[in-house]
Amino acid sequence: MDRRILLLSSFAPALLNRAKGQQAKLPLFWRNGLDEVENTLTQVIKGRVRKLALSAGRRPVHLIAYGKNDYVPGTANYGSACAAGDPAAYRAKSGGQRPVVFLLGPVHGQEIEGIVGLTNLITVAETGRDLRGRPWPELRANFDACRVLIVPVGNPDGRSRCPVMSWVGAALDTHERIGMGTTPEGKNYVYPKVKRFHPMRGLVVGRLGAYFNDAGINLMHDEWFDPMAEETRAFLRLARDEAPDFMVSLHSHASPPAILQTAYATQAVKETITMFAGRLYSRYRAAGLPNRKAVPEAKPDGEAYPPPSFNLASAIHHVCGAVAFVHECMVGVADKPYAKLTHEQILDIEMLLYDELFRFARERPLQRTA
Ligand SMILES: [Zn+2]
Repeated sequence: MDRRILLLSSFAPALLNRAKGQQAKLPLFWRNGLDEVENTLTQVIKGRVRKLALSAGRRPVHLIAYGKNDYVPGTANYGSACAAGDPAAYRAKSGGQRPVVFLLGPVHGQEIEGIVGLTNLITVAETGRDLRGRPWPELRANFDACRVLIVPVGNPDGRSRCPVMSWVGAALDTHERIGMGTTPEGKNYVYPKVKRFHPMRGLVVGRLGAYFNDAGINLMHDEWFDPMAEETRAFLRLARDEAPDFMVSLHSHASPPAILQTAYATQAVKETITMFAGRLYSRYRAAGLPNRKAVPEAKPDGEAYPPPSFNLASAIHHVCGAVAFVHECMVGVADKPYAKLTHEQILDIEMLLYDELFRFARERPLQRTA
């Protein structure tokens, strides 16, 4: 396929012209198109590939699983086990178990950087090197010591609606328009007001953004007790069956990379997220990448109005007890005040996340004993 920035002819001419200005050959390691992911899957030998679900638009949501699954089934679901005062009745974890790590690729279709990261991580798992040829020996060793679940594209419908292959040097306005879509008057939906309409359907939609699946569902904000999206059911079922120690939902935004705190998780889980964020931010600092000093705090929810959202990370935590959180990569748009970034640096942001996460998972697997 043409590896240049692609725009479908259905997009407005002005948008097309702007994007043509950024056309530059993309590096070979920059793989995030649905066909490029399918191609990566054909090269998987060590892992097992299966179709986890069909999206609202009838596209496959793939899962690649690595490593032995050495758990013993429990006797209760997580909620009932907690009510029994014994979370181990759901799934015992001695602290010496093979950690289970679940990486959920972008559920927002324009946040393509996480797909780039995961196609590179799959290549590390298979060959020891990323798609640049850079070896990751410690990451490989830690990865091999875990059970790893990778959903490279969380929202294939949204990804198929995003014609752009790279946001490096693009205008934030274009990122918003393709990502969050437009009103019938042609105005961009913007964060966070875009979330006032959900499902995003009917008279409020001009062009449906890549945020949503084909049924207008933002998979971060489904109805957790009666999911609207089959994709959501599949993610929750996978988490319930596999009992991950850690789950990361991969996202991207314009500002420096971040770990987001998970609302309504336990204090212990929140403190673990705070600790992990501190370690990851130090890695970014040491690598000369954009970074934050302030880590996400572990504080009580709902003390002030408005209350925080019970989102996908909260929901995953509540079906399995995992340390579940959101990672935000950086997209590299040209607008001030955001830092200019290269494709190499964006891949480094993803790879350092995985490197630190698998190190952390081996150091601090969940402990859940009877
Ligand atoms: Zn997102």
